[in-house]
Amino acid sequence: MTLKELATHIAAEFEKHYGRPPRWIVAAPGRVNVIGEHTDYNDGFVLPMAIERYAIMAADPSAASSSFSIYDTHFKETATIDVSGPVGKGQPKWSNYIRGVLAGFQNRGVKIPALDVAFLSTVPLGGGLSSSAALEVCTATLIEAATGRPIDPIEKALLAQKAEHDFAGVPCGIMDQFISALGREGHLLLLDCRTRKTELVPMRDPSVELLVVNTNVKHELGSGEYAKRRAECEDAARILGVKSLRDATPDQLEKAKGRMSDVVYRRARHVIGEIERTTHAAEGIRQSNWPTVGQFMYASHYALRDDYEVSCQELDVVVEIAEDIGYQGGVYGCRMTGGGFGGCCVALVKSDAVEAITKKIAADYKAKTGIEAAIFASRPAAGATIIKG
Ligand code: ADP
Ligand code: MG
Repeated sequence: MTLKELATHIAAEFEKHYGRPPRWIVAAPGRVNVIGEHTDYNDGFVLPMAIERYAIMAADPSAASSSFSIYDTHFKETATIDVSGPVGKGQPKWSNYIRGVLAGFQNRGVKIPALDVAFLSTVPLGGGLSSSAALEVCTATLIEAATGRPIDPIEKALLAQKAEHDFAGVPCGIMDQFISALGREGHLLLLDCRTRKTELVPMRDPSVELLVVNTNVKHELGSGEYAKRRAECEDAARILGVKSLRDATPDQLEKAKGRMSDVVYRRARHVIGEIERTTHAAEGIRQSNWPTVGQFMYASHYALRDDYEVSCQELDVVVEIAEDIGYQGGVYGCRMTGGGFGGCCVALVKSDAVEAITKKIAADYKAKTGIEAAIFASRPAAGATIIKG
């Protein structure tokens, strides 16, 4: 569904459930990280793109003076949040993403309006495409619409991030909420995780799009391995005498190679290389130099697979199939995206070959792994928007 179709759909769902039309409709997208993996906690760059998958909410003032009710139209479940006093954690579990955002506004001195809300998300849940940030940023955008008081988009993103930390217990970085709040149609977002400086990178060439391939696997060694990688990066920075790997050059690393274990060396090689690849890929995108961008994506995957060791068989299979299809078949590049050990790959592809590539990846992935992949194409979508209100 396009955003416009989604808006019509959620308005109809609202009316069906509450018996009147909504006054406000707001949406916020999920995201895919095009390049810049495991760079965020090393003060590096990331380059996410908002995808044409959204959390969307329709709302109207509630007759009950202090309750905020959200009806999830997919799961057919309602969360009712008492907003007469400070909002805390509660049930159902998914309402905590919303509660956290409401509490964030209360901390800014905003009185939460009593609302009836209908909600839907086309961002796949738990698939690494940030359905959680979409939900948080959508909620924040609804409060902006309903109070008539917009807040600075960076503050909005930070408020949403804090909701995820404090109410969902997920110590996430800033990327997901930043792209969902600050994304712009036809642009990627180059984000400096050290300074929080952002730069919109235009990507308007109609001949290319991004293909998201969900392997539909999630291997359960994720969090322990994540902590280990962070510690190894800190070791490398200490040995190199820098504050973080952002400050180290490939030269410095080569000179210090004898003073660190092979594992620590390879972890640092990925991070230092990936930070460079990310800024170079952004430059390639500005110039619509797709073959170059594609090469950086492949290089990113190889480093994540061989040096950082966070890939898995299924992700590697997708990248191998993409390589087989190759430039002739319309694939410029492909890599795993997200933390690793499952989740999604992202590929840069020619628009006119999307259908053929999708079929080929689906068939070959099924043949090689026995698993059905979920695949969709997207162009860079808009960030959070007030559609009605
Ligand atoms: P991701 O952000 O990669 O999709 P997370 O584990 O961070 O994965 O967030 C997924 C969680 O967000 C879900 O388990 C659920 O609690 C919440 N969530 C997101 N979208 C919805 C939705 N449409 N309905 C209910 N809960 C949702
Ligand atoms: Mg998430």
